[in-house]
Amino acid sequence: MQPILEQHRAKSKICRTKLAHLVYGGPEKYDRTMKAFEVLKSQGVVPHPGINELSRVDIYSHLQKTFARLRQNTTLNLATDEDQLSECILATNYHFPGGVGSVMTTNLIRWMGTTQQAESWIPKIQNHVWVTCYAQTELGGGTDVQNLQTLAVFDPKTQEFVFHSPTISSIKWWPGELGLSSSHAGLMARLISNGKDHGVQAFFVELRDPLTHIPHKGVEIGDIGPKMGYASKDNGYLKFSEYRIAKSCLLSKYIQIDSEGNISKSGNPKQMYTGMMNARAGILSLEIGSLAKACTIAIRYSLFRTQFKDSKGTPIPVFSYQMQKEKLLRELSTLYVMTLARNFANAQIRRNSELAKKEDYSELQNSHIMLCCFKAMYSSWSTRAVSNLIKACGGHGYSHFSGLPNIFLDNFPDQILEGENSVLLLQVARYLLKLYGGVMGDNTTKITGKFAFLLDVEHHISSKPLSLRQPFEVSDFVNPFMRSTCILVRNSANKMVELIQKHGDPKLVWDTMMGNDNQRLGNIYSVQLILESALESYRSLEAGPIKNALAALITLFAINQIEEQNSTLMLTGSLTQDTLEKLIAHKDQLLEDISPDALVLAEGWQIEDIFLNSAIAQQDGNPYENLYRWAREFGTLNKFENQIHPAIIEYQLKVSRFREQKL
Ligand SMILES: Cc1cc2nc3c(=O)[nH]c(=O)nc-3n(C[C@H](O)[C@H](O)[C@H](O)COP(=O)(O)OP(=O)(O)OC[C@H]3O[C@@H](n4cnc5c(N)ncnc54)[C@H](O)[C@@H]3O)c2cc1C
Repeated sequence: MQPILEQHRAKSKICRTKLAHLVYGGPEKYDRTMKAFEVLKSQGVVPHPGINELSRVDIYSHLQKTFARLRQNTTLNLATDEDQLSECILATNYHFPGGVGSVMTTNLIRWMGTTQQAESWIPKIQNHVWVTCYAQTELGGGTDVQNLQTLAVFDPKTQEFVFHSPTISSIKWWPGELGLSSSHAGLMARLISNGKDHGVQAFFVELRDPLTHIPHKGVEIGDIGPKMGYASKDNGYLKFSEYRIAKSCLLSKYIQIDSEGNISKSGNPKQMYTGMMNARAGILSLEIGSLAKACTIAIRYSLFRTQFKDSKGTPIPVFSYQMQKEKLLRELSTLYVMTLARNFANAQIRRNSELAKKEDYSELQNSHIMLCCFKAMYSSWSTRAVSNLIKACGGHGYSHFSGLPNIFLDNFPDQILEGENSVLLLQVARYLLKLYGGVMGDNTTKITGKFAFLLDVEHHISSKPLSLRQPFEVSDFVNPFMRSTCILVRNSANKMVELIQKHGDPKLVWDTMMGNDNQRLGNIYSVQLILESALESYRSLEAGPIKNALAALITLFAINQIEEQNSTLMLTGSLTQDTLEKLIAHKDQLLEDISPDALVLAEGWQIEDIFLNSAIAQQDGNPYENLYRWAREFGTLNKFENQIHPAIIEYQLKVSRFREQKL
């Protein structure tokens, strides 16, 4: 008899190579990723199944040793600021050292430094001569970047900046790899010159002696302590005490300081915003890669796992239960909508970069807002999805040996870092309101691309709620979201005007009276945008089994979103009870239609067992043997002769004897 996974794969007509090209965003990226996996394997840079049993100190030294080997023997660079191999980064489960700097600090220097600064510093970072961090957040504040407190005071006598942390709350707190690893930092600090505050500016500073790695005098560095995940990362703190560095540490593409401390500004900082988008765009692929791993694990395991027997006495794989299909395929549909939409978003970001090189910033704001929507929704969807998939694997899902808890823990902070999600959605709402104001004031020149629907805002508001044609068209599902966005933006704008008239303070109104309306607006528009973007990619696919499967997945995703957002859709009159009932009924059919392709779709990223790092989802189909073997091999509480821990002799047996004597 065929092994279980082969039996299930045989049900699908999908070509796996074509699918892999699609999910990696093209054959070239797919080939590069597969070659990188080979290099990682050849150097033993593979996940350690027992990583969660190690102490932080041991995890740290294990990964330093492993990656030193990779860097000595190969030229493979998984994370450059412009082209990251996200799937490989994830697959190593080590949060590889130097990664933060390779992406964040390099980006900062490339876009805010002069050509000379970039040429002299970036090669040292990309070639791992230096390990760097990106030091922005402080104990007392992160989101409010303009009010950071670390000082960089210019001293014209010595031509140096004096870095100082004036208060406890100004201590830098959180930067990844600051605690132990970094020799240098990309640093955000307030530039003070001749007594004048020139706001928060970017610097590149040496923190430690490059030869001895001893922190320089005036630089106090440490690790911030244990976190919910990322045990391997030395997120750190940094306190300056009158620390002096030559003035060339100021990243000077747009701001310059002369020997007397006079400040001048040149160039268009919009270039910088364009460049900094790359880092946020990288998060999208990380979320997709994580969810792909989680879907592969959960779907394979659900095919292996049986519970109860059918009427003929045959054990039932849990995958066969309708409820289980709902849990698994819900997240598979999210994964594919995210993948298709990401392919569209990447094209938009590339177009924006090309235009920016010609000093054309017409796409900048649209691209920025698009990324706010994508980053916020992708990170929250994938975190929730992985949490659901853990539950879908029952007890074994909760075991670290399933590989799932680490994926969850890695995803979770992405909802907070690189722009806290709800704050990003506020920015989306602000932009929509601004564009709506433009429509009302007949100032519509900037309303383009995926915001152009606002030009017909009144038409959308007065359009009919979703009613279903037979057969459904996947594109039908955008309309209720678009209609809701239009109604919410109009309602919010009207409410703002009323409240400002009443209270006379727009900032107070925005901060304390509009937040929830704005969240709803940002949320519903993000779903609309992502769905539309996925459809753009979908339309360009050639007809065939992949396109058919994706139509079903997009529809399933849309119905799930309609269910999730049904209060907003109902309140805006964009959905009727009758349509909702029909959609929910249609979902059951979709689950059956998608099931034969489910495994092949989940395995689209072709992640090998060794990188999947899950005892319950190996190709061999032996989850129980693997769990048993891993527990014996990697469980550190299984290392005592006869399973007798010295503490049992020392304490428990003593107490037992003591209690026995009292009886
Ligand atoms: C794993 C991890 C790695 C990190 N790595 C780095 C790094 O390498 N370098 C670095 O500099 N930093 C790093 N950070 C810090 C991270 O960038 C910040 O934590 C993040 O930007 C959020 O800022 P905050 O902590 O100040 O949150 P806060 O802004 O204090 O958020 C607290 C709450 O306030 C709300 N809030 C804030 N402002 C508003 C507003 N205007 N309106 C309504 N609500 C609001 C938020 O929505 C949230 O609910 C990292 C953090 C984590 C968790």
